[in-house]
Amino acid sequence: MNNDTLFARAKESIPGGVNSPVRAFGSVGGTPRFLVKASGAYVTDADGTEYVDLVGSWGPAILGHAQPDVVRAVQDAAALGLSFGASTPAETELAELVKSRVVAGGISPIEKIRLVSTGTEATMTAIRLARGYTGRDLLVKFAGHYHGHSDGLLAQAGSGLATLALPGSAGVTEATAGQTLVLPYNDIDALRLVFEERGDQIAAVITEAAAANMGVLAPLPGFNAALVELAHEHGALVILDEVLTGFRVSASGYWGLSVTEGPAYQPDLFTFGKVIGGGMPLAALGGRAEIMDYLAPAGPVYQAGTLSGNPVAVAAGIATLERATADVYARLDAASVTLSNAVSDAFSREGVEHVVQRAGNLFSFVFAAEAPKNYVDVQAQEAWRYAPFFHAMLDGGVSLPPSVFEAWFVSAVHDDVVLGRIIDVLPAAARAAAAA
Ligand code: PMP
Repeated sequence: MNNDTLFARAKESIPGGVNSPVRAFGSVGGTPRFLVKASGAYVTDADGTEYVDLVGSWGPAILGHAQPDVVRAVQDAAALGLSFGASTPAETELAELVKSRVVAGGISPIEKIRLVSTGTEATMTAIRLARGYTGRDLLVKFAGHYHGHSDGLLAQAGSGLATLALPGSAGVTEATAGQTLVLPYNDIDALRLVFEERGDQIAAVITEAAAANMGVLAPLPGFNAALVELAHEHGALVILDEVLTGFRVSASGYWGLSVTEGPAYQPDLFTFGKVIGGGMPLAALGGRAEIMDYLAPAGPVYQAGTLSGNPVAVAAGIATLERATADVYARLDAASVTLSNAVSDAFSREGVEHVVQRAGNLFSFVFAAEAPKNYVDVQAQEAWRYAPFFHAMLDGGVSLPPSVFEAWFVSAVHDDVVLGRIIDVLPAAARAAAAA
């Protein structure tokens, strides 16, 4: 069956034909590809067409799809049992691995870890924990940041809500929405003002370590450090969301990169997802023991999961993290620079106004004259240029994220041959963007 038939059939049984909105090609139009295989740097659809993949399952596939050692680890674990609903030795091994990697500037901010199954659960739990620990109700988030789909986090969120131009979600009560204060990103004065006015009610500030769900938009130098200082002055916690950036932009995430390059800062809680599970449903939150021990059964903040710490997922996570070596990060960085420069050159040759946005090896493009600082700037771009560009790339055998508001993901197996296949399609795609 081809993609059109499959999509029509899916829409009969699944809302919108997809199990996660961004997959529906909502802003670029056309029929989403139904994938049947992902291997290395390539994905294959139901029509048998192969594409060079720059989605990487939205982040996890850092080693390339179905990396043989990771698949073997999953198969070995599966043969011993799919789920125990009991503790396993491997869970502690993964927790130790995370603790040992997230170290920078002499700071080891993660003392304890809890494993969950999705990034949404990780951030939701971190927020409950912050409220339980501080005894306060309010949460501060930044416009354009996405932290998963729990009720309190959908106001002015990025990712699929940006793609579909939704200000928030139906079904969230006013009472819940009212407990989230949304501020412009990169604006430390706005944050200072809100702390001056309501500082004693704010439990936590949650921020993507570097925003990557409104396209890539790194924090201004020193912003994360200033944010932590301000929050701590007022007794609030900082939750650094590294679901997307963690173990992808460096062994110690974006936090490690930024601390190595700039002022040191210590968030109280971290959230992880995507790479930590190597493509299996696995995510985590971690931080200072004093705070983490507020989680049940050690403390009064409840959180649980039938499949938390699932042995097959944990095996994939360990196998992936063990293979995400310095050499792998060097290759990701090099591939990211080569590719983003090539795309930028192609746009420039066709006179398409754009800025390359980078956060470590993550990148995306904004169709604007100047680098954006926040969500308002990002939304003001010539976003309509992306759909024709995207489709020209797809027709040329390259699968990009189907939205201008998403990051591009390279992997350790995006070598020169793979990059060459992408670069060959760029002139035609840049022409399509220019003509839009
Ligand atoms: N936080 C960030 C920064 C994310 O990018 C995402 C997912 N893209 C999430 C949280 C939610 O993770 P999940 O989709 O696994 O629930």
